[in-house]
Amino acid sequence: MNILILGSGGREHALAWKIAASPLADRLYCAPGNAGIAREAECVVLDLADHGAIIGFAKEKNIDLVVVGPEAPLCAGIVDDLETAGINAFGPGKWAARLEGSKGFTKDLCKANKIPTAAYERFKGAAAAKDYVRKKGAPIVVKADGLAAGKGVVVAETVQEAEAAIDMMFGGGLGAPAWEIVIEDCLVGEEASFFALCDGHTAIALASAQDHKRAFDGDKGPNTGGMGAYSPAPIMTADVNRRVMDEIIMPTVRALKAMGAPYKGVLFAGLMLTKAGPQLIEYNVRFGDPECQVLMLRMMSDLVPALLAARDGQLKNFDLRWYDDAALTVVMAAKGYPGSYSKGTVICGLDDAAQVDGVQIFHAGTKLENGKIVANGGRVLNVCALGENVAEAQARAYSAVDKIKWPEGFCRRDIGWRAVVRK
Ligand code: AMP
Repeated sequence: MNILILGSGGREHALAWKIAASPLADRLYCAPGNAGIAREAECVVLDLADHGAIIGFAKEKNIDLVVVGPEAPLCAGIVDDLETAGINAFGPGKWAARLEGSKGFTKDLCKANKIPTAAYERFKGAAAAKDYVRKKGAPIVVKADGLAAGKGVVVAETVQEAEAAIDMMFGGGLGAPAWEIVIEDCLVGEEASFFALCDGHTAIALASAQDHKRAFDGDKGPNTGGMGAYSPAPIMTADVNRRVMDEIIMPTVRALKAMGAPYKGVLFAGLMLTKAGPQLIEYNVRFGDPECQVLMLRMMSDLVPALLAARDGQLKNFDLRWYDDAALTVVMAAKGYPGSYSKGTVICGLDDAAQVDGVQIFHAGTKLENGKIVANGGRVLNVCALGENVAEAQARAYSAVDKIKWPEGFCRRDIGWRAVVRK
């Protein structure tokens, strides 16, 4: 098979690494890719917003399957456009991708199908939203509808903070003025991520993970795209996993099928594990980044047949095998991230670091310049490791981190702390 991956981050490097290992993969391409992905796939310059160009490339290279990494092309309908052009694609269509693209859509779907989630209201204007906040009191959560790259959520500790968030969102503080916001109750508990593979009719559980969203140790500092992750999440017991499948994932798959927009692809549920059980915080319609990296390390089965079975609606009798080992990834970012940072700084010691037992390094934002690997983004490297447990994976990953010579980079030193403390 000729396969094309769309995306350029650590998630796509992990997917490329796993797909390249499949005996089914013949030629592998990635657009636009990065310096690490270039070792697994042929990187091609394509604008992901230009669906015509992607279709043209896929036809020219006889692509048998397109695997879409990020949410923006999914929400823009790349899968529908590819399939209409006769090209097989893995991921949800535009309508189903609203599970990530519209918080209001997802909350209404949960309410209609009794899927456990925080109580909420939707608002199109600031005055009514503020009245609601004053009535409900704090803490309370204010969310802008639409994709906001993780910046559209404010967990307000006070009513004043919530009112300021409402003004900020309707006032264009996120770029464009929000056309709608969702205000919801603040859930209390421990967060975990859950991934399922869906084929439009059914779903199979992939694995659980926990990530670290804050920039600095001790879960302090600004929110980021994710500074590290590990899998499995020890808090996700077999019983919790079963409840998530029965109470959250399967009702969602059934609801979308009934709406005539069957969900195919990876469904990523952000969960709050409350005293009353697992509750849905949000859906994402693709693999998490950096969670995908740890999932790919733990997956024993060939990924390609699983992607095909999901696309073809054939997951019913499908099974995936996993290593019992834990996997952990430490994100190395450019100093200044998630604020402003410089690009083009040279990274050395990667080959040395990759020699550490159980370690795999995925590139998130790099490029090759004059024979050297240089930083080309905020999140730059994912130093991953497998281990018998999270503590061992953590020790291996940091031992590799210490071999990387990149003075302009930083990472958290406590990725996995929850799992290590629990043990
Ligand atoms: P989201 O983009 O919806 O995942 O929200 C980002 C983060 O905000 C989540 O990972 C949670 O830490 C927090 N959050 C969102 N909604 C809630 C909620 N209802 N209660 C508590 N925390 C929340």
